[in-house]
Amino acid sequence: MTSEKILVVEDEFVLRDTLTYNLTRHGYEVLTAADGHRAVELAQAEHPDLILLDVMLPGLDGFEVCRILRVDYTSPIIMLTARADEVDKIVGLEVGADDYLTKPFSMRELLARVKAQLRRVRLLREEYAGDTEAPAPNQLRFSRADGHALVIDLDRHEVNRDGELLALKPKEYELLVYLAQKRGRVLSRDQILADVWGWDYVGGSRTVDVHIRWLREKIEDDPADPSHLITVRGAGYRFEG
Ligand code: CA
Repeated sequence: MTSEKILVVEDEFVLRDTLTYNLTRHGYEVLTAADGHRAVELAQAEHPDLILLDVMLPGLDGFEVCRILRVDYTSPIIMLTARADEVDKIVGLEVGADDYLTKPFSMRELLARVKAQLRRVRLLREEYAGDTEAPAPNQLRFSRADGHALVIDLDRHEVNRDGELLALKPKEYELLVYLAQKRGRVLSRDQILADVWGWDYVGGSRTVDVHIRWLREKIEDDPADPSHLITVRGAGYRFEG
């Protein structure tokens, strides 16, 4: 079995070295970044199995890094915080972290959290792999000759693009399913708003445009030239696939 890869994002070099030393000693492969921009770069290039992410960082802070990565990074992120108000933000703003540790923490505690998160992900994967006896999945599949594939799993409420699980917000998922099930039909913003958000929704039809934009960022190869979520000028949107 290849060792699991952990990205350590921490600008205090003593703590970074201590984390690297301890994780390496326990058999993990460790990558390090000392600022937010480097963290995003490394995470996107190396696909670590887990990220330890300090909150206070030069450049982008840990919250911003987490938000950027969560667009398509689905592995565990454990945040390292120094203050109670940071904890409130992690929990309250749903930045997308899986767990957090408040400084100072013991290496024993850190290793236990890391292990727990990696075990959780492993169990999830095994559950998927063991599903061969299950009845045919309830899916909407859109694939093209160039290899692009979008799969919406209606049982699991999950969307895969080219084999990678996307992190969609609940409304983004609902909107995508709604449009995909009405493939080829032009739908007005008001119609979409009424069907997906409900008539009593107070926000305007701008809400639809914003969610379409977010969805394009996640499901399209080129969000500026979409192949699924097509704008129909003066009319609304149409799903193609
Ligand atoms: Ca720091």
